[in-house]
Amino acid sequence: MTLMGRMMAEPLMISSLLEHAARHSGDAEIVSKRVEGDIHRTNWRELARRARQLAQALARLGCVAGNRVGTLAWNGYRHLEIYYGTSGSQLVCHTINPRLFPEQIAWIINDAEDRILCFDASFLPLVEKLAPLLKTVRHFVLMTSRAHMPADSAIPGLLCYDDLLAAEDGHYVWPRFDENTASSICYTSGTTGNPKGAVYSHRSTILHAYAAALPDAMNCSARDVILPVVPMFHVNAWGLPYASAIVGCKLVMPGPHLDGKSLYELFENEGVTFSAGVPTVWLGLLNYVKSNGLRFSSFKRTVIGGSACPPAMMKTLQQDYGIEVIHAWGMTELSPLGTLSKLTTRQLALPPEQQQRLLEKQGRAIYGIDMAVIDDQGRSLPWDGVSSGNLVVRGHWVLDKYFNIDKSPLVSVDGVPGWFPTGDVATIDADGFMQITDRSKDVIKSGGEWISSIDLENIAMAHPAVAEAAAISAAHPKWDERPLLVVVRRAGMALSREEMLAFYEGRIAKWQIPDDVVFVDEIPHTATGKILKLKLREQFANHRLPTAGAAG
Ligand code: AMP
Repeated sequence: MTLMGRMMAEPLMISSLLEHAARHSGDAEIVSKRVEGDIHRTNWRELARRARQLAQALARLGCVAGNRVGTLAWNGYRHLEIYYGTSGSQLVCHTINPRLFPEQIAWIINDAEDRILCFDASFLPLVEKLAPLLKTVRHFVLMTSRAHMPADSAIPGLLCYDDLLAAEDGHYVWPRFDENTASSICYTSGTTGNPKGAVYSHRSTILHAYAAALPDAMNCSARDVILPVVPMFHVNAWGLPYASAIVGCKLVMPGPHLDGKSLYELFENEGVTFSAGVPTVWLGLLNYVKSNGLRFSSFKRTVIGGSACPPAMMKTLQQDYGIEVIHAWGMTELSPLGTLSKLTTRQLALPPEQQQRLLEKQGRAIYGIDMAVIDDQGRSLPWDGVSSGNLVVRGHWVLDKYFNIDKSPLVSVDGVPGWFPTGDVATIDADGFMQITDRSKDVIKSGGEWISSIDLENIAMAHPAVAEAAAISAAHPKWDERPLLVVVRRAGMALSREEMLAFYEGRIAKWQIPDDVVFVDEIPHTATGKILKLKLREQFANHRLPTAGAAG
């Protein structure tokens, strides 16, 4: 007969992260640069108290287990209180990307059925516009103090966040429940069709945070000062709000102030040792530091991911500023960490150029993630560093099903079901270093944000002079990728580049409008009539976008 383990089956609860940080690192600071531009200081002890007050306030507003609380907010202490106050009290924290087109934001809030919407003051005009479209939101909460509340607003009954907390005593005991309960939702637009919700659980979030904090991953410690540049609306700021509670370190939150100067001042004034973000933000910071002849006095290492880290950026950070760059790959559906490029002892003995080439790859899987590259028939390919195939993953913090969609996205590998297809194309070498070589999903990633090629194509096709259109990504020095539209004109009709671009105004977010249009006689197709994007990307691999010169 099977002998069962005789150990406690303590459920993995997100509230326990916060209480651990409050008890063992209560004085560790949480510093936020607020929307208003001032610096706010609190610590884990105080944050835990306010998160408990928030849990009480949300219950008083009628929230019950499973209800979703939406946030439109930058990185800051109130947002962190919402992370813990909602999940800890069995509600679900739904972080929303404010950079999306307003109609898309409304769609996401309605799909998630958010009951409460909390937002930073900078999003008040946006929320005023959205409010009439939101079917399920009962209360709108402005994340500010009484002094900063607007005299009047188009939102009836607008609530003040700090007032809600002040009305509660904080004597609240976090409930214990099934660790597989939903804790947060993040929508990804990195797929075809409507955005899709990834629903994380308490269990997946904590296991991910444990792994993220390990030395060969983000290497977080109580002695670190962590500044997540990656927004809290991008896959829970890559798990840093949780990993930093595990280790009990000082946390620095930049709010909306992500320009080079603001970031540099925060890094220096607060003694930041570790940060994480997409390549585009480092470009701004590096430009500022370089052009002002500055140095970093405490900044030691950074995780760069979300898009391929340009080798030149990696070298500048390493060689000119002595900062260790950890290139990482992940996605919303993976909570998000999948791989990080950290060298093993044996690899540290390799010649420097070989080490550099390895560091430029997306790296090795962390424990908890299993990966494979497969061909179109679902057969696994060898780990030889050259066989390129569809990258699939499975693991403790990998999505099983999307929110509100019954159909499983999973595929089989060598006949074994249960693998998540990432939509990335990659090689894996004999040491397990994965390298992304292409993308099979039809989306463009600009500065860490997705642009749907299909949306761009549908808009173009609605123009009477367009016979066919294809949107592809073109390389850009600042944004990594920008959309390039390839158009076949209708016979006998005239259409200029400027007319085509003007057609996008008001139909899509401004930053999603293509940077350039090229006119061709025909677009290559597969036998089944699908556009051959790979061929098009090859054809325009050297296309220089008119915006490329303005980088920096
Ligand atoms: P998201 O769900 O928005 O986090 O986007 C995940 C996708 O971003 C991945 O499937 C990749 O296509 C891309 N991505 C993330 N990290 C990297 C990286 N280090 N190099 C190349 N592409 C990346």
